[in-house]
Amino acid sequence: MPDQNIPHPIPVPSVEAIDFPALPLMPEAGGRPSGDLARLNLNEAPMSPSPLALAAAQEALADSHRYPDHHAGALAGTIAARTGITADRIVFGNGSGELLVQCAQVALDRGDEAVMPDPTFPTCGKGVQMTGAHIVKVPLRPDGANDVAAMLSAITPRTRLLYLCTPNNPTGNLLGEAELERAIREVPATCLLVIDEAYFEFAGGGGEPDTLTLLRSRTGPWVVTRTFSKAYCMAGLRVGYALCSDEGLKRGFSRIRHNFNVSRPSLAAARAAFEDEAYMRAAVAETVARREQLRAGLERLGFAVLPSFANFLTVRFNGSAAALAQALHGQGIAVQALGWPDANGSLRITIGAAEENERVLAAIENQLEAA
Ligand SMILES: *Cc1c(COP(=O)(O)O)cnc(C)c1O
Repeated sequence: MPDQNIPHPIPVPSVEAIDFPALPLMPEAGGRPSGDLARLNLNEAPMSPSPLALAAAQEALADSHRYPDHHAGALAGTIAARTGITADRIVFGNGSGELLVQCAQVALDRGDEAVMPDPTFPTCGKGVQMTGAHIVKVPLRPDGANDVAAMLSAITPRTRLLYLCTPNNPTGNLLGEAELERAIREVPATCLLVIDEAYFEFAGGGGEPDTLTLLRSRTGPWVVTRTFSKAYCMAGLRVGYALCSDEGLKRGFSRIRHNFNVSRPSLAAARAAFEDEAYMRAAVAETVARREQLRAGLERLGFAVLPSFANFLTVRFNGSAAALAQALHGQGIAVQALGWPDANGSLRITIGAAEENERVLAAIENQLEAA
């Protein structure tokens, strides 16, 4: 019997102390997303997955009485063929968010430190807190990119993880080749370099750095995480992957990974989606074209729009972003308000369908006129 006199609150204090933003409540009547709400707050794709992915998922569904292939051999082989990273260095997660938590678990002990940009995608930081390590937050550059020089200066002998997010969520800007190269060279070999490339597919084509090629010169451990949730339009299927510097690191992930963590239909859909590169490229091109239209519209309304290499725009104006987000919510448009970079904050607006873009522009214009 446990001694009832020793207080042991449940949840335990270390769990209560985890500082993690709550996800918005978006009720789905009948279990389907409502068509009335413009969901421009989660960086989802407005278009459905590739028809080939849907067909593959449908076919796999029939075998659902069998556990999925834990090693995801077929999908790993497909990804290995294109990335040049062999299957014994690829790990799969229920979304790349799961892998970002595992990055912290693989690299950190209680009392260690993890250097992260601020603001950034919160999930790796959640993993850091779960290990009892400390987050060292380094402010972003004013243009919304990670500040590599400042992050390198924040490294101490206790630093065991450095997280880069490029393009950074929630700001959209990416790291140039020189900065990425510097991080790869100067982050100590005693430290896991995590590079979150959730928007990798949106950034292609403009002379952006090739992370995997640059990483060939790194002596220390590294992980690059990517996802099927954004460019592949499969957020609801939950598949992400991590490319690892070496097999030993992958074995570390394998120890903490839950068995059969990615479902059979999801694995099948991901493989088909990855092979249907034309569909993904078309979805990205459409999103980028609409992003630039929205940028022009918002600039016309006097907004300052940050550089974006992703499927969202982060914008500022001379007023409270939180109040504007609230007003838009009242009109059935969900956007994300950020407490960055100053008291006015900024808005992160996902690039939705063409009519959603028009709707959000018109609603913002109305609000500014009413104000
Ligand atoms: C969306 C996103 C992810 C992961 O999403 P999953 O759906 O869990 O794969 C990871 N990092 C960033 C920066 C993101 O924006």
